[in-house]
Amino acid sequence: WRQRSELESMADLPPALEKELQRLDAEFWVSSDKLKKIVSRFRGELERGLKEEGKSIPMNVSWVHSLPSGDEKGKILTVDLGGTNLRVCTVELHGSEPAKGEKYTLTQEEFKLPKDLKTSTAEKLWTHIAGKIGTFLSDQGLDKEYSKDKPMPLGFTFSYPATQDKIDHAVLQRWTKGFDIEGVEGHDAAAQLREQLEARDLPVKLICVINDTVGAMVASAYNDPETIIGTIFGTGCNAAYMAKIESIHKLDKANEQVKHNDSGHMAINCEYGAFDNGHHVLPRTKYDERIDKESPRPGQQTFEKMSAGLYLGEIFRLVLLELVEKGLIFQNQNAEKLKHPYSIDTKLLTQIEDDESPKFKKTRNMFEDTLNLQPEDYEIELSRRLAELIAVRGARLCACGVAAICSLEDIKKGHVAADGSVANKHPKFKKRWATALGEILDWDDEAKKEGKGPIIITSAEDGSGVGCAIIAAMELERRRKDKS
Ligand code: BGC
Ligand code: MG
Repeated sequence: WRQRSELESMADLPPALEKELQRLDAEFWVSSDKLKKIVSRFRGELERGLKEEGKSIPMNVSWVHSLPSGDEKGKILTVDLGGTNLRVCTVELHGSEPAKGEKYTLTQEEFKLPKDLKTSTAEKLWTHIAGKIGTFLSDQGLDKEYSKDKPMPLGFTFSYPATQDKIDHAVLQRWTKGFDIEGVEGHDAAAQLREQLEARDLPVKLICVINDTVGAMVASAYNDPETIIGTIFGTGCNAAYMAKIESIHKLDKANEQVKHNDSGHMAINCEYGAFDNGHHVLPRTKYDERIDKESPRPGQQTFEKMSAGLYLGEIFRLVLLELVEKGLIFQNQNAEKLKHPYSIDTKLLTQIEDDESPKFKKTRNMFEDTLNLQPEDYEIELSRRLAELIAVRGARLCACGVAAICSLEDIKKGHVAADGSVANKHPKFKKRWATALGEILDWDDEAKKEGKGPIIITSAEDGSGVGCAIIAAMELERRRKDKS
């Protein structure tokens, strides 16, 4: 395994710990062959999701009928329900007439979500969101500019699996990413939000509900026409792409909206965090099993729980805790903090892999600050190896999802627009992801090593703000055309 690691060793490990690390490496390493097996199963599940509703991977129809032309214009209000923040924006799209060289102007406010909201009720969630939209409107003087007769168009980024019968409708299939709010699953989130907006008499009209992956794809395509896929590697993981209408077998071709689609395509929000919920192919470790069992939705999001940001830090914690319990690390120290679920943020793994300070002082300080532990050199060494093992597995698995889409759609080249904290803040994620993609798609060695093949991962534009606004603008334009 030392050959696989990019790290330079800074200390020897005691033999018992070295043995543990070898075991862990064997459990976490996903070989090229295994990646290929995963992708082949993955592709099959994507196909099944296009055939029937309610399959393991939902393949949700988004009612986004095309990528933007880049000419879209308008002034849109957007709201994004993230894991820690609620972001409200005004986005002015300038289309083909950029203002001061920019294709859009954005004004935003971020509101921290109250801690207990994630486990509260539908009523609390929607009153909170509508309340913040109201605050934003008055802060920005928009309540004077718009009225009930001339409402401001609103786009809502709701990044959870939802069944959409039309673009301003979204029945939540299930919460993911640790959310557990009563009374939303099985209900139309759009209607629930609308009700609270109306109760406050706000001068807005909900135009669309979108997923963050669809937003990332659309926002990126607005600037970069080579964009083929939008993907998120953040708290959760997922991707969206433009599917050919005829490949979406479950779509009712007599549906008026389908008849009016003239691009022949439709954005599909895959929701592939749910891949392998049947446990056929992913190499799950006992740590993954435990995370699943103790999550609010056991049995769901199998793939996401092994690869997304919310869980990487937790996997790291569980391994450290096990080694503490075996008496191999932090002997005679108080490891109490390590016992708290989710006490290690994935940011910490990023920081460990990013640490170039002399003698890894930064890593040492982080152990002090977050866990109240004083690591010896060998414990630093172990943590660095472990952070690498876990993050490498995450990146390699993430490559499988995109490879499966490329295989399904026979995509040979293009840009995969990625967003999310892991994609954009982890120093090595993109390269590892690209290397794995190259192994799966049999790129030549040079391309594999450099992560520079025909399919390139790019940093997505702001999907939940700008992307959402563009989708609302495209939808308004469609409605205008339909009327005339
Ligand atoms: C959600 C997706 C979302 C992804 C990234 C997943 O947990 O189900 O809708 O796109 O996280 O935010
Ligand atoms: Mg987000």
